[in-house]
Amino acid sequence: MTQHLTLPRPDDWHLHLRDGAMLDGIAPETARHFARAIIMPNLVPPVVTGAEAEAYRNRIRAATPESFTPLMTLYLTEATDPADVVAAHAAGIITAVKLYPAGATTNSASGVRDFDRVRAVLEAMAEAGIPLLCHGEVTDPEIDIFDREAVFIDRVLDPIRRATPGLRVVMEHITTADAVAYVRSQPEGLGATITTHHLVINRNHILVGGIKPHYYCLPVAKRETHRLALVEAASSGDARFFLGTDSAPHSDAAKESACGCAGCFTATNTMSILAQVFESAGALDKLAAFASQNGPRFYGLPENSATLTLQKSDRPVAYPAKIETGAGPVTVFDPGFPLYWRVLD
Ligand SMILES: [Zn+2]
Repeated sequence: MTQHLTLPRPDDWHLHLRDGAMLDGIAPETARHFARAIIMPNLVPPVVTGAEAEAYRNRIRAATPESFTPLMTLYLTEATDPADVVAAHAAGIITAVKLYPAGATTNSASGVRDFDRVRAVLEAMAEAGIPLLCHGEVTDPEIDIFDREAVFIDRVLDPIRRATPGLRVVMEHITTADAVAYVRSQPEGLGATITTHHLVINRNHILVGGIKPHYYCLPVAKRETHRLALVEAASSGDARFFLGTDSAPHSDAAKESACGCAGCFTATNTMSILAQVFESAGALDKLAAFASQNGPRFYGLPENSATLTLQKSDRPVAYPAKIETGAGPVTVFDPGFPLYWRVLD
C-alpha cells in the first residue's frame, strides 16, 4: 500500500555549508528539500562581521537555486561590535548570532572564553530581538565529554539567560534528557534544535565493534536513554523543539583519520530518516510541527507556502553512499536501517 505525507516545505535551523568547492558540492543536497537554513559561521577564518556575512551569503546564493534562502549568522567573539550586529540584522543580512565556547568544536578557536566580555553584545541583541544560538558544551578539560552539555546548562546557559532578560536563545543540537528538561522548564524565550542523527544513534553506534568515524560528532551522542528523550521531545509537537540537522560535511580523508573531524552529513537523507523515526514513534502527524512549523514560529517568520511530499513504498529507498565534491568525497549518514520514505521531487 502506498502512503503519502505532505508537509509545508521544511527548513533546517542549523546547517554547515562550508565554502569553496565543498560548498558547491554539498549545498544542493540541502536546497533540494529545504526552503531555508540557518547557516553556521564557523569558516576559517570565521564570519564575524556583517560585511563578511553578506559576502558569504552571496557565495551560497551562487551555489544554490533561487528557491533556497540562506539565513546568515555571525560568529560571536570577544571583539564583536554590538553596533555591527544590530546594523547587519536591521539590514536583513543576519538572522542570529552564534555562541561557541572557545574550543568546543570544529573551527571554534575564536569563540568566547570570558562571557562578561560579550555582555554588551548580548544586551544589544535582546533589545533588537536577535536570537543567540548556543553550542551548548563547556570546554574545561576536567569535564568529561559526555557531561559537557549538562554542565553548560548550569554554568553558562542559565546564568546568561538570567543576566540578559528578553534575550531569545536557541540551545542547539541538544543531546541529553537534561537539556530536554531544561528547555521544558522555561516558559518562554528558549528553543532547542535536535539533529537527525541524534534521533538515530547513541554512543554504542560510535564505539561498539570498532570505532565508526562517520558517527562521531559534537556534541557526541550519549546513552540510549538520552536518545529516547530526544525522540520524545521531537515527536511531542512541543513548539520549543525544532529541526536543526547540524549536517556538517568533512571529506572522508578528514573523517577517517587518526584524529577524525566531528560531524555527520545528513542533508541528503534527513527527510527520509525523520519520516521513519516519527513513524516508529507513532507520531508521523507531528513531523510537520518539528520540521516545518515550530522553527518559523520561534523566529517570527512565515511557514513556507511550498510543500514537500514523502511517499512510503515497500522497497527500500536508494540514496548515494557518498557525495563527490571538488574537496573530496563526503560520506552520507547511514542510519543503520533501510529507509522506506522517499521525497517526491
Ligand atoms: Zn553545528
